[in-house]
Amino acid sequence: MQDLFSVKDKVVHVSGGSRGIGRAIADGFVQAGATVVISSRDEAALQSTGLAYEVCDVTDAAQVDRCASNIVERFGRIDVLFNVAGINFRHAAETFPADKLQAILDVNVKGNYLMARSCGFHMVAQQKGKIINIASLHTLQSLAGVSAYGMSKGAIGSMTRALAVEWASQNVQVNAIAPGFIVTDLNRKLWDDPTMRGWVEDRTPAHRLGQPSDLVGLSIFLASGASDFITGQVIAADGGFTSGSTWPLVVPR
Ligand code: NDP
Repeated sequence: MQDLFSVKDKVVHVSGGSRGIGRAIADGFVQAGATVVISSRDEAALQSTGLAYEVCDVTDAAQVDRCASNIVERFGRIDVLFNVAGINFRHAAETFPADKLQAILDVNVKGNYLMARSCGFHMVAQQKGKIINIASLHTLQSLAGVSAYGMSKGAIGSMTRALAVEWASQNVQVNAIAPGFIVTDLNRKLWDDPTMRGWVEDRTPAHRLGQPSDLVGLSIFLASGASDFITGQVIAADGGFTSGSTWPLVVPR
């Protein structure tokens, strides 16, 4: 039974693995006995982790191709890709800066597609692979002031389904994790504000913020043989945020 969930000796690439959610996923797979390669733009940050790495900006198709080929050359194959690289910028929609819109679409949409394409190329050749995209609660519902990011995460849901149906017959499964509010560099300042923190703790049925480590269990499941018949799904890990709310109604117990 334990083997069903084993990721031991799998070659796992975490794009956007230098910090935050990607780093926690990478550490989780190291503990589970996988061979982990992380990538991002920042060589110093990558090196400081002590993990195997490739320097790669996901917006550059040539770098992404080279990153995937280098991993295959160094480790023989790519069993699992975590597509984690992502950026955010919050601003009113009616004056949203065009350069920030472009940057978000470049990393979150084009960059994640390029990485799925280049790693998927090797997985299709291997006739085996798992791609896990990091979507967002914005893939499932919206919050004001986050229109461009929300749109980009909607695209991650579409990409997940599109690649899943295209590669299912090649034994490559493609799924997405939609995290709720997870404390990282991307949003740490937001949660220092007691009004914002109070809102999320009240509105989330689990009544707490998430930590990057909250995503490790689902990540291992989606990378393991236990999920071989699951593809094209966006699975929320959000303490119940997208399921609904608690409310002040008092009921007999
Ligand atoms: P962080 O800012 O902590 O980490 C972002 C990661 O993406 C870093 O490793 C960064 O590395 C990498 N990255 C950014 N741009 C590029 C690029 N052009 N090429 C390669 N790597 C890049 O954010 P989180 O860990 O919070 O977010 C990770 C993912 O999870 C994102 O896709 C985000 O949208 C998503 N997410 C986060 C949530 C949260 O609450 N934190 C909730 C839902 C989804 P470097 O700077 O070294 O290049």
